[in-house]
Amino acid sequence: MVQVRLDAVRKVFPRSGGEPAVDDVDLTIGDGEFFTLLGPSGCGKTTTLRMVAGFYFPSAGRIYFGDDDVTRQAPNKRDTGMVFQNYALFPHMTVAQNVGYGLRIRKVRGAEASKRIEEALEQVHLGGFGSRRIDQLSGGQQQRVALARALVIRPRTLLLDEPLSNLDAKLREETRLEIRRIQREASTTSIYVTHDQAEAMAMSDRVAVMHNGTVQQVGTPEEIYRRPANRFVATFIGRSNVMSMPVTGAGRDYVEVRGPAGATLRAAAPVDHGLHETADALISVRPEHIRLTSAEEPGAIPGKVTETEFTGMSTNVTVDTGEAVLQAASVEVPTRLTVGSTVGVVLPPEHVWVVRP
Ligand code: ADP
Ligand code: MG
Repeated sequence: MVQVRLDAVRKVFPRSGGEPAVDDVDLTIGDGEFFTLLGPSGCGKTTTLRMVAGFYFPSAGRIYFGDDDVTRQAPNKRDTGMVFQNYALFPHMTVAQNVGYGLRIRKVRGAEASKRIEEALEQVHLGGFGSRRIDQLSGGQQQRVALARALVIRPRTLLLDEPLSNLDAKLREETRLEIRRIQREASTTSIYVTHDQAEAMAMSDRVAVMHNGTVQQVGTPEEIYRRPANRFVATFIGRSNVMSMPVTGAGRDYVEVRGPAGATLRAAAPVDHGLHETADALISVRPEHIRLTSAEEPGAIPGKVTETEFTGMSTNVTVDTGEAVLQAASVEVPTRLTVGSTVGVVLPPEHVWVVRP
């Protein structure tokens, strides 16, 4: 229930040779927003989250909760609720004792504590489970207890670090819906850490994509998917064909490039693209946006099918145009599309996008 702001935050661990784990991160997370830090293992997500929680202090930069500068404030003064991958529940305590832990520390006792514990358990759909032992619960239920324990203190921010990683695939999908429902109802400003792009896309209001300790792009899931800022984002979120092509013309928000087989392609570009003739542009097209047609269709780039792979929902088709090898994914593939056959490839301009290197 507060805006969280990171201003040029940096973290250099001792004995890291000066290499920052988190470098110059600027983020503003809106009041009540569900915001995700997404990136591969080691990119600095946990370190960033722990600085917001107060478990680490930044080497440089400031962190604000609303107008409060919390940069060097102790964790227990920040009113953050944390949920971890391994739940970190006390196995020898009951569900109610686990959930009530933060209340005891805050000296909330007796009837008031019992009432808040039961409310928090109802929030996560575990009403009446208070007297159960932790080891009598499933993994998904344990993670909901961990969530109740974080929420019972009515935190200003909820911080979740890969909370679904220990659950199997089906439970993970169910639990992510649960987390989102609970967060919406509580409208607590939340920062969620994951390396799983599908999870990030499905759950988040906005996502920050991180790589090597830096933020590569911040945007809604749609923006990041449709308009990736650079090669890393284009290939980390979903799949993309990224190709370098010579620029033959440029406008305010587009460029024209010479594509495979001499075809002129038009690609949408950010208005500050700065590209002009004689430069090369990096072009990104998603496999599902490539249209496969007859090689005779005017404007289609001819190529040979070198691989096909049926995935159930769609068929992945690899096409070699001689100059480029393209991955296409089609929901409906003509039966004549077998390895060795000739096809035409169409790159629809509205789905061809210029990315930075
Ligand atoms: P992520 O959560 O994205 O996987 P981390 O934030 O845990 O990444 O780690 C970022 C980088 O900082 C990694 O190179 C990691 O080895 C390093 N690192 C993390 N924690 C520490 C620590 N306590 N001491 C030294 N280096 C650390
Ligand atoms: Mg981590």
